Amino acid sequence: MAKFFNNKLFRFFSILLFFSSSIPSARSSSALAAWSLNSNGVLELRTKSDTKLKAYFQKSSKNFGDRLWIDFPGELKKPRTIKGNGPIKEIRLGKPIKGKTRLVIEFNHGNNLNPLTWRMIGIDENRWRMKLFSYRTSFKTIGEGLVNKRKNSINSKQNLIHLQKKDYGNLRLPEVKQNKFFVVIDPGHGGSDPGAIGIRGIRETDVVLDVSRIVKNLLIEKGVNTRLTRNNEIDLDLPQRVSFANSKNADIFVSIHANASRGKRRDINGLETFYYRGWRGRLLAKRIQKEILKVSPGSPDRGVKQGRFYVIKNTRMPAALVEIGFLTGRLDAKRLEKNLHRKRVAYAIARGILEYLSKTG
Ligand SMILES: [Zn+2]
Repeated sequence: MAKFFNNKLFRFFSILLFFSSSIPSARSSSALAAWSLNSNGVLELRTKSDTKLKAYFQKSSKNFGDRLWIDFPGELKKPRTIKGNGPIKEIRLGKPIKGKTRLVIEFNHGNNLNPLTWRMIGIDENRWRMKLFSYRTSFKTIGEGLVNKRKNSINSKQNLIHLQKKDYGNLRLPEVKQNKFFVVIDPGHGGSDPGAIGIRGIRETDVVLDVSRIVKNLLIEKGVNTRLTRNNEIDLDLPQRVSFANSKNADIFVSIHANASRGKRRDINGLETFYYRGWRGRLLAKRIQKEILKVSPGSPDRGVKQGRFYVIKNTRMPAALVEIGFLTGRLDAKRLEKNLHRKRVAYAIARGILEYLSKTG
């Protein structure tokens, strides 16, 4: 780092980027929720609200191309490198020091970049935009997460009341006492932590959020008070998920995930549900597992198992963690890509939960 950043540029960024001033606590999760470098050369970011960003630029050297990097408060869970194309060599997400997230954009050699014209523009409290280069036909958009919240999310339709009967076969939802129960549904991962990435780039965070929203709506229709631990693409720490459920004194907690196999083996598919303790947790897991298997014919039953996952271990109420299929598996991924299948899975999970509540409540 001998040459370090261009001083002028840094000053410039300092002014623009201290747009919001509150300082999140040091141990919080990454403030970077989503990013996209678009084919027109515009970098878009979505962050937590009130995030303070710092950006730096370094000219190319023997070992590196030109680099722009932006630091965000909060710690990244999974450092990773994304291959670039066109003028972009690669994009790296890392944690330079504990409690920080760094997004590095490295250019290939021989680009006539003009960083002094770069301006980070705050579009609203949590969205940012910076034009890095002009349109080049050779560059294809790269990104992770949804920079425009909700827009083009897998399925933000709220109208599942209109789910047609043929869509879910003969699954009917059991009746339970109105307004008696409080259920917390936990869509796994989120924000800068996409969870498993499967075939054709299908992402766990999107799939499980979609399914969770549908489960929630179905339960609410049945008179069960239901809350999600996250309702959009934010990176939420595990302890926060647990303390939310514990503080609400929820009757049950269900965390929804999708699997990835080691080595991304396409022949590995299947469903499994975990609990940590107690016959109630086990019963809840069994009910859910039984129902999701019904809507996933051909996908192996990997069983109901005891698992030491943080969220089911530390929640005080009966809790289950369901893996609704392998995003890396040929059979499961193809299904989980489809709206209709996700609705069916959501229906199955809701049915498992309602059955459990009607038996034990
Ligand atoms: Zn997961």
